[in-house]
Amino acid sequence: MNPAYLLAIDQGTTSTRAMVFDAAGRALAAAGRELPQIYPADGWVEHDPEFIWSDTLAVCRRALERAGVSAAQLAGIGITNQRETTILWERASGRALHHAIVWQDRRTAGHCRRLAEQGHQALITERTGLLPDPYFSATKLAWLLDNVPGARERAARGELAFGTVDSYLLFRLTGGKVHATDITNASRTMLLNIHTGAWDPELLELFDIPAAVLPEVKPNSAEFGTTRPDLLGAAVPVRGMAGDQQAALVGQACFAPGMIKSTYGTGCFMLLNTGARLRTSANRLLTTVAYGLGGEVCYALEGSIFVAGAAIQWLRDGLGLIERAADSAALAASVPDNGGVYLVPAFTGLGAPYWDPEARGAIVGLTRDSRASHVVRAALEAQAYQTHDLMAAMADDAGSELEALRVDGGLVANDWACQFLADITGLKVERPRVTETTALGAAYLAGLQAGVYGSLEEISAQWQRERWFEAAMDQAQRRRLLAGWQRAVRRVRSDLD
Ligand code: ADP
Repeated sequence: MNPAYLLAIDQGTTSTRAMVFDAAGRALAAAGRELPQIYPADGWVEHDPEFIWSDTLAVCRRALERAGVSAAQLAGIGITNQRETTILWERASGRALHHAIVWQDRRTAGHCRRLAEQGHQALITERTGLLPDPYFSATKLAWLLDNVPGARERAARGELAFGTVDSYLLFRLTGGKVHATDITNASRTMLLNIHTGAWDPELLELFDIPAAVLPEVKPNSAEFGTTRPDLLGAAVPVRGMAGDQQAALVGQACFAPGMIKSTYGTGCFMLLNTGARLRTSANRLLTTVAYGLGGEVCYALEGSIFVAGAAIQWLRDGLGLIERAADSAALAASVPDNGGVYLVPAFTGLGAPYWDPEARGAIVGLTRDSRASHVVRAALEAQAYQTHDLMAAMADDAGSELEALRVDGGLVANDWACQFLADITGLKVERPRVTETTALGAAYLAGLQAGVYGSLEEISAQWQRERWFEAAMDQAQRRRLLAGWQRAVRRVRSDLD
């Protein structure tokens, strides 16, 4: 009998995880490690690629051991990862030349502003579906090439490789044999033409990126290469790869046009499946590749918010208002309302639909009666308001009202936050039984390639709802709260100064 276990690697912003799934999509075991964050300057965020690699290996080994599954029993590995995070490494050794520049990093805001001022925005958006923002990899890669001594010369000689984390892990897992990425990760670099699925020569010139550093672009289910046998105890084929948000879309089985998922981890990312049709947003949402399977590409509209769960982490670590993230629910519920307090978590600028890298966070509406519980509540409420802004933009772009939202990510363990989300958006908020949708999606993609699943329909049939939340708030109160939020957002926007 064919082995039908799948190993998913989920290399996220704050942690590296591995999970072993069986063919029914059941998680048999998991292992994880926290990833240290490096903040060298205001708005700069880095990771050590050696930690990313050694943690990945350690969690894979531990998850297999816990599941009692050997590498030889795996039908494949699926990799999913924090997107856009940029690594430049030496082909000969696999060693990075510099820390990874994380997606949240704003150091290239000036470069992006200049591109917009020089009138390149239309070209960038038309080709990539993105906006000239430091969030994406292109300007981060240009920064590395310009700031690491000797990098440009070495890149020109073909000694260096660029990749997002998927590509870096694949390179290391295959012992330096394979330099490839998948179409979803590639679509976030701002260098890929999403109409053709190929690197765009004009964009490479605009960002001054030598083609010699680029990985090969593959579909999300493919033969990506096999792992070096000594790493896990046997050579295992890597058969699935996708950026974390796209993997979550797959894990949530949002395969039909009109279906939406929203993930609340460090940031919040909402993706609307638009099918084979590539839609350009009139509301500053991103157009992105949902997945590419075989020769077919499915697109999505995406709203990205940089700080979601990270605001709760900040309440815990920055302010010391709570001991554990989960305590936020009881505190929020301990007051009848937000007491007029709004928290705009623009710690690293505002993402969609504002795209204001210079904005910074604020707590507004404080009075003598404001308590810690109001601030905690405001941080949770902000998740719903941010989602509302994305939803309004998406509904306008899609030309139809949205109905349901499949949610996942660490924050949706919080029932209070899910109910408030339903109240503010008016959407039916659906929480799945398996909330590790990112890892599950990566496993599904590998399973499709391995023949564990014959079709997307087979995967859809596995999706199960654990609970759903429906709006219970009256319209007048909803409008009043949204008006308060919008006033608070106006106060932090740098483009209104
Ligand atoms: P990532 O994959 O981006 O590292 P996760 O999906 O693991 O993130 O989610 C972790 C985030 O969720 C953290 O920022 C944490 O503050 C938040 N979080 C976890 N549990 C809760 C909770 N019960 N209530 C609110 N936020 C939570």
